[in-house]
Amino acid sequence: MKKQVALGIDVGGTNTTFGFIDRDGNYLADGNILTQTHEDISDYLRELHYEIEKVTDTIREKVDIVGIGIGAPNGNFYKGTIEFAPNLRWKGVVRLCDLLKEYYPQLPIYMTNDANAAAIGEMVYGGAKGMKDFIMVTLGTGLGSGFVANGQLIYGHDGFAGELGHVIVAPNGRQCGCGRLGCLETYVSATGVKRTAYKMLARYTAPSILRTIPFNDMTAKIVADAALKGDQIAIDIFKYTGKMLGEALANAVTYTSPEAIFLFGGLTKAGDLLFKPTHDHMEMNMLKIFANKVKLLPSQLDKNAAIYGSAALVWNELKV
Ligand SMILES: [Zn+2]
Repeated sequence: MKKQVALGIDVGGTNTTFGFIDRDGNYLADGNILTQTHEDISDYLRELHYEIEKVTDTIREKVDIVGIGIGAPNGNFYKGTIEFAPNLRWKGVVRLCDLLKEYYPQLPIYMTNDANAAAIGEMVYGGAKGMKDFIMVTLGTGLGSGFVANGQLIYGHDGFAGELGHVIVAPNGRQCGCGRLGCLETYVSATGVKRTAYKMLARYTAPSILRTIPFNDMTAKIVADAALKGDQIAIDIFKYTGKMLGEALANAVTYTSPEAIFLFGGLTKAGDLLFKPTHDHMEMNMLKIFANKVKLLPSQLDKNAAIYGSAALVWNELKV
């Protein structure tokens, strides 16, 4: 009997990666293409289809593809469109699912944004298995989030619900890529950590390894490594980042009363440097009825998490 698999596709700013994964999380085969080579979406899809078929040929005898899931920046679940994604070459509204459907008319195709896909990945394959209420927070260049309530991902009226990264946490604060001031992701993200680093270095005179790093070379990882070596300014940068995140999570808890909040992405590699201040400030600001009830956990998705999330979208929609 052929094994049922979902095809997960992650459209990233640089690479588009895809893989075939079964319901139990077994990873069968994968491939990738560069996202930005083609200015025309049709040319991009032609190359993607060619690569997918090439990889499919290696497993075609063994598998039965049940659907395609796509995670993409500003992906709209309802319309199957990518809308005004700042980091992609295709401007405006791109009808990605409709166009891909021309190659795969027999398969259901689902799309959502990358953070929502990660949330579903956590629910189907990761640490949120069996949970009905949780929040996924993805910490990368920006901050993404997906809210699951009553076992369902909340898409909202227009398909874009769950944008914790653009909750204003500091009125008239740092300028955000969305054009407004003081959004959470300007503080809590790899970019946010870098901005905090320069602010702290300017404000305090204490010696720090970070003072020797040229502006363009500074990364969240360098700050984390310095903090692990005991560099006080680097430690304070993570304390500040955790404070901003913890306060925002305490507020987020009041909306959906989650059982757990999962943190995913590069910044979480800092471990307790980030988790401890985040947890402390979350509890410090928590409404009493929620105090000490909400678990703050690292994501259980690791390698190929974006593809797992996209494939999980298929299983979640097909309810198999
Ligand atoms: Zn914003």
